[in-house]
Amino acid sequence: MHAEGSAAPERQAMAVDIACVGFGPAMAGFLTALSRRLAATDRPPIASAAAPGLPLQVVCYERADDVGFGVSGVVTRARGIRAAFPDLDASQVPMAAPVREEKVLYLLDPVGASRRSRALRAADAALQALGRLAGLDHHAVELPWTPGFLHKRGGFVFALGQLMQWMAGQVLATGTVQVWPGTPVAEALVDGSAVRGVRLVDQGVDRQGRPGDAFLPGMDVTAGLTVVADGPVGAVGRQLDEALGMPDGHGRRDWALGMKLVVDLPASCALPEGTVIHTVGFPEPEIFGFLYVHPGRVASTGIFVPSWFGSPVRTGYRYLQHFVQHPALWRHLGGGRLRSWGAKSILESGRRGEPVLAGDGFARIGEGSGSTNVLTSSGVDEAFTTGVQLAEGVIELLEAGRPFTAGNLEAAYLTRRRASWVEEEGRVAERARDGFQRGVASGLLGMVLSAATRGRLALGEGAPHPADAVETLEEFYAGRIAPAEIARIRSDCESRGQPLHDALMDRAGWPAIPLDGELLVTHQDALLMGGKVQAAPGYADHVIFLRPEVCRACRRRVCVEICSAEAIRPGEDGVPAFDREKCVHCGACLWSCTGRLDGTDRVNLSFRAGSGGLHSAEN
Ligand SMILES: Cc1cc2nc3c(=O)[nH]c(=O)nc-3n(C[C@H](O)[C@H](O)[C@H](O)COP(=O)(O)OP(=O)(O)OC[C@H]3O[C@@H](n4cnc5c(N)ncnc54)[C@H](O)[C@@H]3O)c2cc1C
Ligand code: SF4
Ligand code: SF4
Repeated sequence: MHAEGSAAPERQAMAVDIACVGFGPAMAGFLTALSRRLAATDRPPIASAAAPGLPLQVVCYERADDVGFGVSGVVTRARGIRAAFPDLDASQVPMAAPVREEKVLYLLDPVGASRRSRALRAADAALQALGRLAGLDHHAVELPWTPGFLHKRGGFVFALGQLMQWMAGQVLATGTVQVWPGTPVAEALVDGSAVRGVRLVDQGVDRQGRPGDAFLPGMDVTAGLTVVADGPVGAVGRQLDEALGMPDGHGRRDWALGMKLVVDLPASCALPEGTVIHTVGFPEPEIFGFLYVHPGRVASTGIFVPSWFGSPVRTGYRYLQHFVQHPALWRHLGGGRLRSWGAKSILESGRRGEPVLAGDGFARIGEGSGSTNVLTSSGVDEAFTTGVQLAEGVIELLEAGRPFTAGNLEAAYLTRRRASWVEEEGRVAERARDGFQRGVASGLLGMVLSAATRGRLALGEGAPHPADAVETLEEFYAGRIAPAEIARIRSDCESRGQPLHDALMDRAGWPAIPLDGELLVTHQDALLMGGKVQAAPGYADHVIFLRPEVCRACRRRVCVEICSAEAIRPGEDGVPAFDREKCVHCGACLWSCTGRLDGTDRVNLSFRAGSGGLHSAEN
C-alpha cells in the first residue's frame, strides 16, 4: 500500500489522433495501409489534430511482451495479404512456405477410448474390414479430394509470430506509427455511445489491484479514433459489447480452444515443406486437427477443442498428445523434438458474432469483429483484410478533413467491408457449423451443404450458450464409467487438490503418455520451452472469480478442467485458485465457465487485460 501521508500519483493523460488496441493480423493490415499513406511523399502530409504542428499521431498498444507472440496455424490463401504485398515471396518471412500439397484425413480411433456414436463405430468397423480397399493406411483414410471451401491452393503456410514480426518491421520502417508491446489496455474511455480513447492498465498494484508503493495509474490516451483489434477474448472489445449491446440476432456462442506444438521433424520424415494436412475423427470425433510443414524440417501440429464438445474434461494438452501419437501422424512426427507450444481461443461465431463495427470515435476489426470464417477455417487473412479496409476508409476521411463520427465511419469503412469477399464469404459461412449441435456427422454434412448452396441451406440451429452445452460428468461418461466411480474419482482428486481430467481419461481407456522428454513432455515442461513466461510483477490478476458462492456450488468446474496449463487449479475453499505465472492468456476459461450469472450471457469468470503469457515467436 502507499506510504501513509504520501499522495497517490496522478493519472497521466496524453492526446493522440489514433489509438490502437492489439497488434495481431487485423492491426497489421490497418497499420500497413495507414503507415504507407503517411509515409507517401507524393501526397500531401496529414497533420495531427491532437498535437498541432506534428504529423498524425498513431499509437498501437499490444498486451504481449513482443509483437510476434500470436498463436495460430497458419495456412492461408493470403488473398488480402498478397494484395497488400504483391511481391511477397515466402523466403522473405521466416518459416513461410507456399502451400504445396493438401489432404484431409479421417482418423479412426486406434486406442478405443474416444466417445464415438454407434453409427461412427459401425463406419469405422466397415473401413477396418475393407482395409486397403477403402484406402485405410495407418488407421486413417484420406478423402479423395480436399473440399473446395477448405483448400488453400496458391496460399502460404506461416508461423503467426514470425509473420507478425515481419509485418511489424515493415510498418515501423516507415517511421510514421508507434507500436508498444508489453502495454495492456485496460479499457476504452466510453462516453455514452462514443469512445474517446483508451486507459492503460495500472501498474505497481498487488494481485487484487490495490496500489503499492510503486503505484502508477494507467495513462489515459485520448484519441479522435480508437481502433479495437484485441482478438477473440479481448477485454476492450467485450467491454464495448456490454456497453453498446450486440446487433439484433448477433451473439458469441461458438468457440474453440486451438492448441499447437511446433516440432523439429525427424530426419526420416519425407513430408515436403508446404504440406498441409487437415484431420477429423480423433482423439474425439469433435476435435479437428492439423499438421503444416514449414521450411527447415519444422512442423506446426495441433487441435481445436470446440465449445460444442460436451465434455466437462476438455483438457487440450492431453488430447494433443494423443493426437500426435495417432499412427497417421506419428509416422511423420515420431523421433521429432518439441520446440514450443501455444494455445489460444478462436471465436467461431463468424459473422453472427459481429458486434457494432463502428460508432462515434471507434471502429472494430479482426476476429473480435466477427471476421473469422468457420467454413473455410480461415481467420488471419480475413482479419488482415478488415484492417486494410478500415485504413482505406480512415485515409479517405483524413484527406477530406472529416471527423470520425459513426456516420462517416459507416460510410467509409462499413461500405468497403460490406462490398468485399470477407463479407460475401462470411455470409455463406454464417450457419455452416450449426449441424454440429446435433453431432459430428450432421456437422460435416451441414458444412458441405452450406458450401454447395452458397449459404442458402444449412443443417441444425444456432448454438446454445457454451455453458449450457457442457454435459455433466455422469452424462458424458454414461455407459463407460459408473456414477459411483465418478464420485469416487471426484472425491479422490478433490482431496489431493487435483483436476479430474487425467484420472477420468485414464479410466476411460486413454493410455498413459509415454513421456520421452523429446516430443512428449509434461505440460509444465512445455510451458518453459521456446518462449518467455513473464507474468510481470506489479499488475493485477487478469482472471477473477466474481462470486465465490457460485464457484462453490459449481459441480463441473470446467475452468479447472480446460486449463491444461494448470494456471487454474482447485482451490482450498471450493473457489479455484489462479496462478498468473502459468497463464498463457488463451482465454478458454472465459468461454468454458458454466456459472452463468442471473440468467444473462455473463459468466462468473472475468478475463481482464493483463501482461505476460508464454508464447514462442514460432507459434
Ligand atoms: C491454434 C490456432 C490455429 C489457427 N489456424 C489458423 C489457420 O490455419 N489459418 C487461419 O487463417 N487462421 C487460423 N487461426 C485463427 C487466426 O489465428 C485468427 O483468426 C487471427 O489471429 C485473428 O487475428 P486478429 O488480429 O483479429 O486477433 P489476434 O490474432 O487475436 O490478435 C489480437 C492481439 O490483441 C492483443 N490484445 C488483446 N487484448 C489486449 C489489450 N487489452 N491490450 C493490448 N493488446 C491486447 C493480443 O495479445 C493479440 O496480439 C488459428 C488460431 C489458432 C488459435
Ligand atoms: S469460474 Fe465458472 S466454471 Fe469455474 S468454478 Fe467458478 S463457476 Fe464454475
Ligand atoms: S487461466 Fe490462462 S491458461 Fe488457463 S484457461 Fe484461462 S487464459 Fe488459458
